[in-house]
This record gives sequence, C-alpha cells and structure tokens, in this order.
Amino acid sequence: MLQVENLHKAFGELQVLKGVSLTVEKGDVVAILGPSGSGKTTLLRCINFLEKADSGRLVFDGEDFDLGRITRREIARLRKKTAFVFQNYNLFRNKTALQNVTEGLITARKMPKAQAEAIGLQMLEKVGMADRRDYFPHQLSGGQQQRVAIARALATSPEIIYFDEPTSALDPELIGEVLAVMRQLAAEGMTMLVVTHEMSFAREVSSKVIFMEGGHVVEQGPSKEFFASPKEERTRAFLRRIT
Ligand code: ADP
Repeated sequence: MLQVENLHKAFGELQVLKGVSLTVEKGDVVAILGPSGSGKTTLLRCINFLEKADSGRLVFDGEDFDLGRITRREIARLRKKTAFVFQNYNLFRNKTALQNVTEGLITARKMPKAQAEAIGLQMLEKVGMADRRDYFPHQLSGGQQQRVAIARALATSPEIIYFDEPTSALDPELIGEVLAVMRQLAAEGMTMLVVTHEMSFAREVSSKVIFMEGGHVVEQGPSKEFFASPKEERTRAFLRRIT
C-alpha cells in the first residue's frame, strides 16, 4: 500500500533523515520505535506532508511520487486517503466532540450535515464516546479527547492512519483506553503506522516494527522476530534499556 524509498530531510545543517526506506502492506500495524531524536516524528510528518522532505520516493496504491517535487494537488489527493492522529489531539477547542468529527466532512468533503453527523455518531460510538457527543474538549479527559481525535480520523474512511506518539501526552491511567481503541482498529484490519514508546503496544498489537536511530532505519521486520531475536546490536542495546 505504502512504500517510501531513500527519504532525506534536513533542518538547516541538521540532517535528520538520512535515506529512510520502509514498506507498509494493507492491514499492517507498524510500530516505529527508536530513541528520542532519531527522526521518528519527522519521518511520519514527511510522509503525510506536514514537513516537506528534501528528496525521496513515495509509492501509494501503486502511484509513484517524487517527494522532492510533489505538487499541492498531488498532496491533496493523497491526503484524502490518509488520516493523522497527533500527540496533542489537535481538537478545535470551540467545537463539540461531534462537531470535531464532522467538521472535515462538511467543509473539506462537502458532505451534507445530516450525513456527516450520522457518520460522526457512528465513529464516536466506535471509540466509546457517543454519550459525550456534545461535550467540548475542555470537558473531556486527555484519553477521551484522543479517542475523539481517532473518531475524526476514522470518519474520513482513510486507507491508513498515521499516529504520532498518541499516548505520550496522557497520564498513565488514561493510556489504556486509547491503546484499547487502537487494538480494536488493528483487529478490524485497519492499516496503521504508529510512532510509539508503548512497548506493550508494539509487542502485542503491531505486526511489524521499524527501529530507527540517528536518522536511519537500523532494523525492520515482523514484531515477533524483532522482540524475540533482534539482529542488530544497536537494537539489542535499545531493548535492554527499555525492558
Ligand atoms: P523523534 O521523533 O525520534 O524523537 P524527531 O523527528 O522529533 O525525533 O526529531 C529528530 C531531530 O530533528 C531532533 O534533533 C530534533 O531536534 C530535530 N527537529 C525536529 N523538528 C525540527 C524542526 N522543525 N526544526 C529543527 N529541528 C527539528
């Protein structure tokens, strides 16, 4: 479904991504792991054009794009097939849970309000937030806000959802409810690419792991193999530190 080849990205003199390649198949749940500062978030943001890559190739659904010279129109077309869940939820503060979920459908996709609300409610239901449809973000816990953000991502029927450290802003007791929703999506076959520090999620839910360090992919492969018998010494050192 998604293939990235030789992606490079620098911020000024700082080379952050030094030729990253990865593949995501339909139905994969891919965890991107690695020490802080290794370029995980930048990679995810480049793939979804929240940052502009300097160079690289992206293939999505068989369509080929040159990341160094991709056009706005191509980006808009690709974005229709993807959704992004942010670390800090990024909900509109002056809109209710339901309005947050329907906003994109109504404004960007020109969907009639009634239809958008029907989909919105269905998605809030899916993440266990239908009873909070009329609450504003400040009336919700962090975990609840993140579940609304996931409902918003789902509402656009994306082919893949990108998650950027979706639980790292949450108090420990709220992490579980968000991971439970993600686990449920994984079971339903949703394709997900997840930057995470949650080793339990990577171990138990992800089908594949990409381990990054210093702007490189050091190792990637099926989760079971990654955790049971990591091939690279740097991976083993990382796993020793965090487990
Ligand atoms: P990770 O997600 O693995 O912690 P990041 O992708 O957030 O790593 O960051 C990788 C490196 O890029 C870090 O050194 C960070 O300081 C730098 N960086 C990230 N975003 C920017 C930016 N907008 N401007 C300058 N440097 C940045």
